[in-house]
Amino acid sequence: MKFNTKTIHGGQHDTDPAYGSVMPPIYQTSTYAQSTPGGHKGFEYSRSGNPTRAALERSLASIENGNFGLAFGSGLAAIDAVVKLLQPGDEVVSTNDLYGGSYRLFTKIFEGFGIKFHFIGMENAANIEKYITDKTKLIWVETPTNPMMNIIDIKAAAAIAKKHDILLAVDNTFATPYLQQPLDLGADIVMHSATKYLGGHSDVVMGALVVKDKELADRLYFVQNASGAVCGPQDSFLVLRGIKTLHIRMQRHCENGKAIAQYLNQHPKIEKVYWPGFADHPNHEIAKSQMRDFGGMISFVTKGNDYNEAIKIVENLKVFTLAESLGGVESLAGHPASMTHASIPKEEREKTGVVDSLIRLSVGIEDIDDLIADLEQAIG
Ligand SMILES: *Cc1c(COP(=O)(O)O)cnc(C)c1O
Repeated sequence: MKFNTKTIHGGQHDTDPAYGSVMPPIYQTSTYAQSTPGGHKGFEYSRSGNPTRAALERSLASIENGNFGLAFGSGLAAIDAVVKLLQPGDEVVSTNDLYGGSYRLFTKIFEGFGIKFHFIGMENAANIEKYITDKTKLIWVETPTNPMMNIIDIKAAAAIAKKHDILLAVDNTFATPYLQQPLDLGADIVMHSATKYLGGHSDVVMGALVVKDKELADRLYFVQNASGAVCGPQDSFLVLRGIKTLHIRMQRHCENGKAIAQYLNQHPKIEKVYWPGFADHPNHEIAKSQMRDFGGMISFVTKGNDYNEAIKIVENLKVFTLAESLGGVESLAGHPASMTHASIPKEEREKTGVVDSLIRLSVGIEDIDDLIADLEQAIG
């Protein structure tokens, strides 16, 4: 099955035995009747498993070319489950330009439990190897990175992980499996904030993990059930519905993203545009080799790098909504320094390029003329 068919049919073999409903029913139940103790039809309690969630988990596995999917109550809950595979004393090598909430989870929760994190630039993947010790158990990669749109070579990172027998996890939230499929490039775990492109309509908070290996899936399932950060059946249904249009939404996100990146790049008031589709992006060649297209996420910095001017621009936007999050059908604009990355200390965020005037756009699927006109009036 090809990708565009998988988004609609992947893992959805069981039609509803009761009435043949084309979409899986929303099994809004916490428990399941048993004929005799242990005599059930595959489900006992909805933390452990729910048929609507199971349908979504099969879809997730299918679109990422994995064998097992696990859905969680949020992206951070999915990341939390991965780090819970580790023990005190273990070390993690992580991308430095990282989703703010991931950084907070790693440093404020898991460092307290005795896990050590190295946050490093991975634009040159060989750099990862310098930080590997005999305690390293996990490499955490985000590509494209948030919000600087750095590109990390997943295949090269996977080769290092294999050589040292370390797990490689890739946060694939920005790219989605439409653009890149990390498991095929050698990653062990793919993670998603399904809140973003997979759900695609800004109406659900959810996370996901997909793996190929059965033993790894069992260990993650143990954490999912034991820690209990699962998602509900209604949200499972919504994300399953979202995934069915992922490929056509992504196609338009990419088209609009390209047009806006080019528009901003020639704008006299804009200093720099970060988008992996530009030939002069430092890792453009790697992006071209591991991604099908370049996505709808763009960051830019204004000339003069003025904090207040950036705030004015995002306030002036009318079609773009000023909001956190990304990946929905509607265009959003954010100011990382005061919003998503406010939890990262200023000197720390500036080291990775998150300067005062940086603005991040999640380009939606509206008409491109309206989006460009909106930027034109807001930037002035
Ligand atoms: C949003 C996001 C997360 C966290 O996901 P939630 O669903 O908000 O918990 C993790 N990584 C990236 C890249 C994100 O954009």
